[in-house]
Amino acid sequence: MLIVQKYGGTSVGNPDRIKAVATRVVATVRQGHKVVVIVSAMSGETDKLIRYAGQVSSNPTEREMDLLLSSGERITTALTSMAISELGQKAIAFTGRQAGIITDAVYTKAKIERIDADKVNKALDNGYAVVIAGFQGVTEDDEITTLGRGGSDLSAVAVAAALNADLCEIYTDVDGVYTTDPNIVPEARKLEKISYEEMLELASLGAKVLQTRSVEFAMNYNVPVVVRSSFNNNPGTLVTKEDQDMEKVVVAGVAYDKNQAKLTVMHVPDKPGIAARLFNTIAEANIVVDVIVQNVSADGLSADISFTVPKTDSRRALELAQRLADDLGAKGVDVRDDLAKISIVGVGMRTHSGVAAQMFGTLSKHGVNIMAISTSEIKVSCLIEAKYTELAVRVLHEEFGLNKHN
Ligand code: ASP
Ligand code: MG
Repeated sequence: MLIVQKYGGTSVGNPDRIKAVATRVVATVRQGHKVVVIVSAMSGETDKLIRYAGQVSSNPTEREMDLLLSSGERITTALTSMAISELGQKAIAFTGRQAGIITDAVYTKAKIERIDADKVNKALDNGYAVVIAGFQGVTEDDEITTLGRGGSDLSAVAVAAALNADLCEIYTDVDGVYTTDPNIVPEARKLEKISYEEMLELASLGAKVLQTRSVEFAMNYNVPVVVRSSFNNNPGTLVTKEDQDMEKVVVAGVAYDKNQAKLTVMHVPDKPGIAARLFNTIAEANIVVDVIVQNVSADGLSADISFTVPKTDSRRALELAQRLADDLGAKGVDVRDDLAKISIVGVGMRTHSGVAAQMFGTLSKHGVNIMAISTSEIKVSCLIEAKYTELAVRVLHEEFGLNKHN
């Protein structure tokens, strides 16, 4: 088999851990597999570099940010390759560029456009374990880019797709995907398998095991992904195509996201084109909008439009919304970042009714007020005050029968 193994920041957090990674890689090669390894930077490294940038510049250019941030993965790539060689297995390290990972030119959140895998394929054919720096690529014009936080997951899945790998293993510091955060609910269970769609919802809802875009990519290219721990040999969770077993379960998991800010543009004229203008402006700034609610005021002439964005984008979104509000003669823009989004996810919702009502009922029974709601076919999300996050997660996990003893 051809296996892509991705190791996250804690798995390569120091030289001893890198040696442990090398041991696992070599064991996999000795089982007769071809192995491509994707590594993250050592845990904390990317944050440290971002801090450094902030200490020398109030507004570092994104181009230089990417050059800076890509250095973390260079270090672990080279070290991992050395450690594998040390065990008597041929290994070679590649930067994103050397691995042929070509991206668009959106610095700090570039998208992979294609992978020219000749060099990697040749090395594999010549018996090398190939180690590739995650999180980075290069534009057609030779500019270094990064793929957004957590982007080495995407590197791994994209490389697996490009090489037509049999399996993409994501090694991390947890045993797999859980029904919810075990730090909040000790009764949370590890899932044996989960569908791409459920995983996508969970990832985008802030279950931090896999980067959202990597799941999207895996789903589009049908890459089988296993999330497992690099600290033991437990089997992990398989992320794969939906099957009939999965449909029987109404709710597969409960997720929360504290990284949301809610902006409200108050008293905008209630006429066609306003929402389009607002959200075009936000989209042009590459800011991803999540929940949207529009309320028409009692006089029927104006509306309040609320929407959520990642906290990291809230300042920029505020500037843009404020400018538009001024233009439109709206009353102003209000921001709140003391909110959290709680969600229940499951493909079984397609065939079961009353799930949303059950969720709202459970929250109300515990005095948790719902400030906005959004739904998809397989998800219900509620925006609530952040201080109720843990409570909400616990009672929903119990209500939908996800606790271990069930
Ligand atoms: N080092 C990058 C980050 O911390 C990419 C990754 O680890 O996936 O976001
Ligand atoms: Mg990660």
